[in-house]
Amino acid sequence: MNLTNFRFETDADGVALATWDMPGRSMNVITPEVMDDLNRIIDAVVADSAIKGCVITSGKDTFSGGADLTMLQGLGAEYARLSRERGEEEAMTFFFEESRRLTLLYRKLETCGKPFAAAVHGTCLGGAFELALACHHRVVSDDDKTRVGLPEIKVGLFPGAGGTQRVARLMQTGDALQMLFKGEQIRPLMARNMGLVHAVAPRGEIVQKAKEWLKAGGSAVAPWDQPKFKAPSGKVYSPAGMMTWPPANAIYRRETHDNYPAAKAILQAVYEGLQLPMDLALKVESRYFAKILRSPEAAAMIRTLFLSMGELNKGARRPKDVGAVPLKKVGVVGAGFMGAGIAYVSANAGLEVVLVDQSTEAAEKGKAYAHKLVSDQIMKGRAKTADRDALLSRIAASADYADLAACDLVIEAVFEDPKVKAEVIAKVEAVIGPDAVFASNTSTLPISGLAKASGRPEQFIGIHFFSPVEKMMLVEIIRGKATGERALAAALDYVRAIKKTPIVVNDARGFFANRCVGAYILEGHLMLAEGVPAAMIENAGRQAGMPVGPLSLNDEVGVDLALKIVKATKAQAGENAVNPTQERLLTALVEGEGRLGRKNRKGFYDYPEQGQKKLWPGLRDLQETRLDPDAVDFQELKQRLLVTQALEAARTFGEGVVTDPREADVGSILGFGFAPFTGGALSYIDFMGAARFVELCRTLEARHGARFSPPATLVAMAEKGGTFYGEAARQAA
Ligand code: NAD
Repeated sequence: MNLTNFRFETDADGVALATWDMPGRSMNVITPEVMDDLNRIIDAVVADSAIKGCVITSGKDTFSGGADLTMLQGLGAEYARLSRERGEEEAMTFFFEESRRLTLLYRKLETCGKPFAAAVHGTCLGGAFELALACHHRVVSDDDKTRVGLPEIKVGLFPGAGGTQRVARLMQTGDALQMLFKGEQIRPLMARNMGLVHAVAPRGEIVQKAKEWLKAGGSAVAPWDQPKFKAPSGKVYSPAGMMTWPPANAIYRRETHDNYPAAKAILQAVYEGLQLPMDLALKVESRYFAKILRSPEAAAMIRTLFLSMGELNKGARRPKDVGAVPLKKVGVVGAGFMGAGIAYVSANAGLEVVLVDQSTEAAEKGKAYAHKLVSDQIMKGRAKTADRDALLSRIAASADYADLAACDLVIEAVFEDPKVKAEVIAKVEAVIGPDAVFASNTSTLPISGLAKASGRPEQFIGIHFFSPVEKMMLVEIIRGKATGERALAAALDYVRAIKKTPIVVNDARGFFANRCVGAYILEGHLMLAEGVPAAMIENAGRQAGMPVGPLSLNDEVGVDLALKIVKATKAQAGENAVNPTQERLLTALVEGEGRLGRKNRKGFYDYPEQGQKKLWPGLRDLQETRLDPDAVDFQELKQRLLVTQALEAARTFGEGVVTDPREADVGSILGFGFAPFTGGALSYIDFMGAARFVELCRTLEARHGARFSPPATLVAMAEKGGTFYGEAARQAA
């Protein structure tokens, strides 16, 4: 048999083994060629009467991450071309047939008459797990690295190769929907408990166990193809079904606010599919899949959350001509809230860490945070005591700057005070080697200003983490005026080592993320001052796709911090740089009412010891005017909250703070949760079209003021019919 991506052999007992091992790739992915090979394998197994059945496994370190998303993107482009050249109907026929090729192939495997078993070690996700689901038996390794799941929803898609139908026939409907909505990666034992796999075995035994199942006469008929099959939750139209579906709809609305067409399609495909026999059910799933694959949300999310994020993680912005920068030992100065987190993520990545604070006790307190974080992991069964011992042994807590001598990189996270920082810079530079890089985690102080205290500004850079450090995946790397290429490479290598996603920005007040976040919070404040009920503002934020409303977000950050930033901005940049209405509101809250945010349980919300937070009723008294809620245009509130952030992102782009649209998009989603279905703050503009966006800004400007005035660069782009990505591609060419 002529195969490129699989090895195929048959043992003395007539059991075939197909080992998926794509040449020249570190990981298996589903491509058209892989589909062709699988098709040949099925035909060969069926045709040879000496073959009893077949085990599919991987020859790589891990099973497979699923379909090649660039292939799916290519399908979209082909559809667009055909639709232009030959009309919508022909394009759609092509698209539907192509997008269901994998479904038909897997169904062929499932109904070919010979039993197939999957032996899975490592990651087995998306289309690859759908292959395993189409096999009649699934054995997974008990290894720490093994994960199965259907994460398609995370890039705006859904499992369109039978996943929705098979999962819904393996478990209770509510559980199936939850699994499909969350898209989580599932550990082996959990997968077995959920009924997703049949057996868990040591890595070295999975193939043998799968073969044993075949030799013991494993059935070649899937449960749902058995004549008396009943779905675990029974029929859709039944008392049990009525207990499931109305709440499922409500949960869908609550979780997505109808912003994610893929989530709705999951609900529809499962609801309709469960009322049909498998082949028709798969056709229904395919119809929805073809529709979702053409949706702007899927295009935007695949581009930002898969392609761009992957490129940034692999060092798209790393200076090409700088060789590997040695990075074994990292110094962290300031063992407070941020420093402790930075020390933890560094040690967790296997780096040696020297954690320095003003006293040994303070440094030890920072180290204790790492102890707490790993202990939490141990409690959840995700780490072992030995992991904790090893990690803690890599953190040396100290009050002596001399201990930083051998560090390749030192990150300071001391108080946000230029004088304190300048002292620290001098003390650190006095002990570190000539090649070591110094980074500041400042959130507001320009890097070029801080670098004035450095004797080697070309080795001085900003590495800006978000809190909590161990959870937030974004890191902003800030280039000062004098920052050199080697320091940039070192910072990027470091962020890669700790497995976070970097964006590189040029020095400016607020850098990138905090400027956009600031605009979101400001809009919430101004709505409140206008007289919009606080609950409506918060709901508008969430329904627009943000993880939390602007008032809630301000409580998390600190209402006092917001006021401090307003005052500092006014002192440095003048009266006109701040909004007087916002200043009045914040002053009344902080200085008048002592409401600092979640930290003192009093902010825009009250935070009782027991129970949920509630909006503070006194907010009404702070409103200078009050609007009739029925007269408020709710859609406009949602628009304002997204437009103001996108506009700020466009400004940072126009000013050259961000230089690559991928970074603005990835940064906006990972850094502050900008409505992910849009693909990020600049994709939001690109998909709407710059001209329409500018028009929207002008309407909002007329109604709400100059903060909605679009920058000249954006107006010029709109006039040319350009896009951020189009311009970036042209510049790169
Ligand atoms: P923090 O007050 O919790 O910690 C600061 C630590 O620095 C304290 O432990 C203090 O003892 C120590 N320190 C002060 N002077 C020192 C010196 N001379 N030598 C050694 N240690 C010294 O503050 P934080 O919230 O961790 O913030 C630290 C930095 O990180 C600030 O620049 C802040 O702007 C920035 N940052 C904070 C956040 C956030 O959400 N808190 C986010 C991003 C960046």
